Amino acid sequence: MGEGKISIYRFMSAGCNGCDVQILECLVPRYRLEALGVEIVSTPEEANVLAITGGINVKGLKELKNAYERLRPPRIVIAVGNCAVTKGIFSDGYPMVGPPDQIVPVNLYIPGCPPRPQAIISAIAKILGIELEEREDYWYTPEGFRGKHEFDGEKCIGCGACAQICSSEAIEVHDKDGKRIIRVNYGRCTFCAFCQDECPTEAIRLTEEYHLSTVDREDAYVENEVKMLRCRVCGSYYAPQRQVDWAIKKVVEGADIRDELVGELRRAAEVCPDCRMKIDNIRRAKRILVQLSLRT
Ligand code: SF4
Ligand code: SF4
Repeated sequence: MGEGKISIYRFMSAGCNGCDVQILECLVPRYRLEALGVEIVSTPEEANVLAITGGINVKGLKELKNAYERLRPPRIVIAVGNCAVTKGIFSDGYPMVGPPDQIVPVNLYIPGCPPRPQAIISAIAKILGIELEEREDYWYTPEGFRGKHEFDGEKCIGCGACAQICSSEAIEVHDKDGKRIIRVNYGRCTFCAFCQDECPTEAIRLTEEYHLSTVDREDAYVENEVKMLRCRVCGSYYAPQRQVDWAIKKVVEGADIRDELVGELRRAAEVCPDCRMKIDNIRRAKRILVQLSLRT
């Protein structure tokens, strides 16, 4: 947007108002928003920026279109917080008509639940084309802050336990072309850290990074990929290689199995669930189980 004043009109629809509180928090003197040429105004006619919080419900639909039409050029729209990015926890609500970008063009997305005021301010600076010096202590995060995820590619076994525990459905698991992709979506994540607690190999952790703004909401994610293992009977990919290795290691450690049986166990594990259901393989698996039980 370059030089000039940013006049922001706040538009709220379906949400908890947590993000709107964060926008108001941006107005405290220490952030010196006015020095950046930013003001909050009370009507769309005075504004050239629309800051939307919440997903949009039927009631907000007409009002949002109306507010957008009344904006002054260049009509910048920013979606603040998860509900404004993807509808967030309100996704399945019957009166929801979509995240704002289904109704008006959105120029910048600021994921978070809610985003820190500092994340909102640096996003506004991005619009202004200003480079902020984040040296003051309030830019730093407090101890225990939970921000963007980091995967340890060496440790992740692709088990998907993180996705299963995530009550926000923020983590997707996709198997494609011999790879499993685990993706954390920031339009949905509430930064609860359950995924970090649940991971059996400590492969995922939440860092202190909170600058998540993006011009394309499809880019608001972090992901990891692991190789899949082929079934040695039918050749289909069926499980992450590392997950199978990890499971075998756990069994071997727990049962103190002798070497020749480890080979049998591995051969059995390298067969996909469909092929395992075939009678010969069931017999084979039973034989291994008998040998294991005799041993332990
Ligand atoms: S991050 Fe942890 S829980 Fe998630 S897929 Fe990787 S190993 Fe499994
Ligand atoms: S921190 Fe992890 S478990 Fe919690 S919402 Fe985000 S992705 Fe889901």
